[in-house]
Amino acid sequence: MDLKTIKSLDIKGKKVLVRVDFNVPLDEQGKVADDSRIKATLPTIEYLLGAGAAVILMSHLGRPKGKVVDQLRLDDVARRLGELLGKPVKKVDDCIGPEAAKAAEELKPGEVLLLENLRFHPEEEKNDPEFAKSLASLAEIYINDAFGTAHRAHASTAGVASYLPAAAGLLMEKEIKALGSILTDPDHPFVAVLGGAKVSDKIGVLNNLLGQVDAILLGGGMANTFLKAQGAQMGDSLVDEDHLEFAADFLNKAKERGVRVELPVDLRVTTGEEGEVKIVDSQKVPDGWKAMDIGPRTAECYAELIKKAKTAFWNGPMGVFEKDEFAGGSEAVARALTHPGLVSVVGGGDSLAVLEKYGLKEQVTHASTGGGASLEFLEGKELPGVAVLCRD
Ligand code: ADP
Ligand code: MG
Repeated sequence: MDLKTIKSLDIKGKKVLVRVDFNVPLDEQGKVADDSRIKATLPTIEYLLGAGAAVILMSHLGRPKGKVVDQLRLDDVARRLGELLGKPVKKVDDCIGPEAAKAAEELKPGEVLLLENLRFHPEEEKNDPEFAKSLASLAEIYINDAFGTAHRAHASTAGVASYLPAAAGLLMEKEIKALGSILTDPDHPFVAVLGGAKVSDKIGVLNNLLGQVDAILLGGGMANTFLKAQGAQMGDSLVDEDHLEFAADFLNKAKERGVRVELPVDLRVTTGEEGEVKIVDSQKVPDGWKAMDIGPRTAECYAELIKKAKTAFWNGPMGVFEKDEFAGGSEAVARALTHPGLVSVVGGGDSLAVLEKYGLKEQVTHASTGGGASLEFLEGKELPGVAVLCRD
């Protein structure tokens, strides 16, 4: 993959249209509740401003479904971005049309303009060529820095690149380098830790990583299905009966390839909401009890295996971490990932939430902002928003 990057373009004096991910959480008053996604785009915006560009930003926010929804306007995002940049950010109330065209036309090098929520137009998610062309007409160069939506072929993530010279922003480049390096030339031993609720969400990643890793450590609800496929009694635990065969086949395939697959040896189980909690052998979850987290012996074993690795990838919590009493397994994994000398890459919204819960986000090598996009990338799929940024 030969990604075109921002530094390969001559941007001085140019109008640059940048797709960013400003899909931030809002509070009840419609104010930005968490500005990490805005902060993550600052390197690209500041680079462009420093290089003498006029910067036109575009993003989606929430799910307005092709209609104007006042609560999902980007005004407060513009305000917060202005504070972070230390300069005013102009804002228009549409992303195409005469107002946007005029503001883009008048924008000078060193100035920043934020367009209105792209998804107020149904054409955005349909990747409508006329809509993409209207967006493209605002600028001379297109930069995509929104890795989180790169798995979608929308007008602003793919379509626009048909009309303008296109390149990856700094955040996009960082994501692709970090995720790409674990797929192409990871240092071994390479360990993948996979959890989360459902096996069906992780089939692609499991299959693709099987070709790269030395060991896979399974946890979370997903591990229950593997345990059951091996004959364990799972009581009332979440088990995906439709994927028992997949799980059994996968374990065989891994064995043939010499990839070690670890399943929990103990589990933290409960009888239900506010119910009793105890630790049991992972082979025998009693009826009426369900697995909520990997047990302490498993957590310790996984942490040791992670610390012995040179590269580790983690996606999917080891338990129902939203409740403190079932967060221990995920915390142990997260802490092990910060081991000195280990290249650790973490993907997935809930896995990042675990890192944040324990203040560990800055201590792993790369915490992907990608969510679904990072998983599709690691499944080995071509992301439409990345493909258009690559040289033919
Ligand atoms: P990510 O967002 O990092 O990709 P997932 O969305 O795949 O992770 O999985 C996270 C969810 O899995 C969490 O909501 C968590 O509560 C749930 N989960 C983890 N372990 C279990 C379990 N044993 N039983 C039920 N749900 C679980
Ligand atoms: Mg999730």
